Amino acid sequence: MDKNRVYAQKLSQIVDLYLDETIQVLGYSASKIADKMEDEELLNEEVIRLQKQQGSFNSVIIADPNGLMLEGAPEKYALKGKRITSKEGLLQLENQKISISDPFRASTGKLLITVSYPIFSSDGQYKGAINGSVYIHESNFFEKVLGEHQYQDGTYVYVVDSKGRVIYHYDKSRLGLDVSENKVVQRIEKGESGAQFVINTFDEKMLAGFSPLEKTKWGVIVQTPRKAAINSVGKQVLTTFYFELPLLLISIIVVLALAAKITKPLQQIAVITENSVNESEMGNLNSLNAWYYEASKIKKALIQSLSFLHGQVSTLKDENSIDSLTNLTNRRAMDAVLQAWTVQGKMYSVIMLDIDRFKSINDNYGHAAGDEVLRFLARQMRNAVREQDLCCRYGGEEFIILLPETGVGEAYDIAEELRLNVEGTISPIGKSVTFSAGIAVFPKQASNPNKLIELADSALYEAKNLGRNRVVIAKEELQKSEDE
Ligand code: GH3
Ligand code: MG
Ligand code: MG
Repeated sequence: MDKNRVYAQKLSQIVDLYLDETIQVLGYSASKIADKMEDEELLNEEVIRLQKQQGSFNSVIIADPNGLMLEGAPEKYALKGKRITSKEGLLQLENQKISISDPFRASTGKLLITVSYPIFSSDGQYKGAINGSVYIHESNFFEKVLGEHQYQDGTYVYVVDSKGRVIYHYDKSRLGLDVSENKVVQRIEKGESGAQFVINTFDEKMLAGFSPLEKTKWGVIVQTPRKAAINSVGKQVLTTFYFELPLLLISIIVVLALAAKITKPLQQIAVITENSVNESEMGNLNSLNAWYYEASKIKKALIQSLSFLHGQVSTLKDENSIDSLTNLTNRRAMDAVLQAWTVQGKMYSVIMLDIDRFKSINDNYGHAAGDEVLRFLARQMRNAVREQDLCCRYGGEEFIILLPETGVGEAYDIAEELRLNVEGTISPIGKSVTFSAGIAVFPKQASNPNKLIELADSALYEAKNLGRNRVVIAKEELQKSEDE
């Protein structure tokens, strides 16, 4: 709309400029012939020159004050000798002023606009007028100035006179049409210029820019069908869309991938929470990769509340947590403690120990004697460890001692002391027994309890291989691959 407003303004300026020029040209001729009105040849030359060379008028005439046409061009209209009879034409003569008429029907029947310039002789006598006429229905001045076609996007230009009649339109069938009801035309009448949305005579929605002329009360209107304007905008949007499509797709994929990554721990937590009555879920919860701050916070909170729910932390002394043979903490309770420590981020060491050649003890002294040896070792362990340490029966004749906030050196000393004590003490079978042990430390060597116990187990295996009755520290350091 604004484009059309600016365009209408420009066009109205151009029409004004042309009208100005035609008036000047007529004025020049008027002064030239003013004192030589009897010189037929001169008058004839002048009308021909004006009509042909200037090219703005369909016809040019010179009339005396009574409306008798002294000369006329072009010749084909045979105007010479005829009279101006139309009311408007006679009025122009009478007024003796420079004037631009609204369209009127001349005696010839043609609808025309006349630019009239009065002729005064040098002694001030009124001699008549020189008139240039624009024939509305013929190829004319407006076509020359405004062009005779509509534009590619359906935009077209038209001109209305002071009464709201179409005096120029690319579509000739609309010439002379009364469009004074048109809102835009009404605003032009008030001398306004601008742009607005209108519905034209044919019920089409239009984006119109408009501007009045200065010389006359006419107005220029530039209109684009709303459909065409929207279509071109639509095309632009579509082009932009195709350009952006690959980027958009990449963005969507990245966003989806990120979203999946972000929601994964939450989904897992959700599943675990649903099954939270099931204690085995604690292990899943522990191994869950909560890779960002919020998820890890939720994970920790959940582990703490689930631990509480299952009574794993506070009920270590329950019969459910105690191994009946040795009175040590059983494996299930040990797992819970390990999980709790891991969540708290507590540093700790584990000593894993296994009686040497236990099978032969069973074989030689009987299973009951074997049980006594297990009880004996449990007592030895309890004596060797500190108050904060936790002795557990891991399974069969394998034991684990958990040492909170204990480095590997200290753990080794405790294990070694225990080993020497056991080695130097007569056991229930009448002679001493020995054990082998492996030590690993959290979190330096492993990122989760299972991994840590695996490490301790392999250290224990090495101790067995090296000849038994010894303590071996796990060699492996935590590696990134283990962590994942
Ligand atoms: P090493 O560890 O030195 O390699 O030899 P080992 O003979 O101790 O090895 P192994 O692990 O083969 O033997 C373990 C034996 O412990 C086998 C099993 O019968 C016995 N055992 C497991 N639990 C108990 C228990 O509760 N009471 C008794 N008396 N024996 C058990
Ligand atoms: Mg064993
Ligand atoms: Mg053994």
